[in-house]
Amino acid sequence: MNCKIALISGDGIGPEIVREAKKVLDAAAKKYGHTITYTDVLMGGASIDVHGIPLTDSAISDCQAADAVLMGSIGGNTSTSPWYQLPADRRPEAGLLKLRKSLRLFANLRPASLYQELKAACPLRNEIIGDGFDLMIMRELTGGLYFGERKTVEENGILKAYDTLTYDENEIRRIAKKGFEIAQKRRKKVTSVDKANVSDSSRLWRKVVEEVAKDYPDVLLEHMLVDNCAMQLVKDPGQFDVILTENMFGDILSDEASMITGSIGMLPSASLNDTKFGLYEPSGGSAPDIAGQNIANPIATILSAAMMLRFSFDLDQEADAVEQAVQKVLTEGYRTGDIMSEGCTKVSTSEMGDLIAERI
Ligand code: NAD
Repeated sequence: MNCKIALISGDGIGPEIVREAKKVLDAAAKKYGHTITYTDVLMGGASIDVHGIPLTDSAISDCQAADAVLMGSIGGNTSTSPWYQLPADRRPEAGLLKLRKSLRLFANLRPASLYQELKAACPLRNEIIGDGFDLMIMRELTGGLYFGERKTVEENGILKAYDTLTYDENEIRRIAKKGFEIAQKRRKKVTSVDKANVSDSSRLWRKVVEEVAKDYPDVLLEHMLVDNCAMQLVKDPGQFDVILTENMFGDILSDEASMITGSIGMLPSASLNDTKFGLYEPSGGSAPDIAGQNIANPIATILSAAMMLRFSFDLDQEADAVEQAVQKVLTEGYRTGDIMSEGCTKVSTSEMGDLIAERI
């Protein structure tokens, strides 16, 4: 297979962690007989330094011409970096929002799984963790409360603010389909999370999800209210496979889920549109405090590359190989500083990349 990947190294630790993900992708391509073509794309602070803006039209075209985008992270120290003296629409993050919009990325995927080797970093008690957990939060990214009409008005001398939460059935249908498709590649269970006891948008959400479920008879569907889901995530995370939910609920639940895994440096993510195209990036930021020191954990970016192989290229075997190589390196006791514990061997960013690539 010939895979065209747009590479956005970005800022801070971005170039260091993307370099290692590329190393691992190349090792997988070599082993399984694929060709990967990379196009380097500037975004964020790196683009501001060269072009004065965080994302150029030609950078967008380069991403659109690729099959998928692999990104490090963008942004700098928000207190000291000159990028944050610029107007809001010219700061690094504006580039990412514009790119997501241009690529019509409406589905955000954030897995949260526990490696037995990193159990000590999990804030949950052993009896709750049990055999561990491996769940995926699928969050709608372009609708709902964050994109609805909002206003602050003054009525009879009293300030009043409102935000509107709107979804139409097509927006719900397309994310629900993605949710069921992803579940088919996993343990075939979807927990659709809403607030159907209160809101109309949630009642529509539930109705459309039930309709879509009929096309996926091999996937088990359950509904859960969002307040209960927030509790269940810390009470019994092992019960979940795919959690399908709207924008704001997903925003909150995905951060809760990431906390119970213990380390930000281990968490990949993907944002997909209605084709196979996706943008893959670690959940963490550009970590300016440790940039340029070769100590960042590249595993979240490497696991993001594995998600790319699975979801954009349907290369499940290759994705498994990358994930198993990560598992092997952890079992052998290698750790970057952020996940270091007694008795383990501390390695640098590039050494971690080498170790994983060698085990593909
Ligand atoms: P951050 O995630 O960059 O850092 C938080 C802490 O986690 C820091 O101590 C950092 O050293 C550590 N950390 C993060 N990733 C790590 C890794 N791979 N290995 C080891 N340690 C890691 O969050 P922040 O400090 O709030 O933000 C820094 C910059 O990143 C800001 O400009 C912010 O806007 C940007 N940001 C970008 C994205 C993105 O590109 N999608 C996401 C979040 C934040």
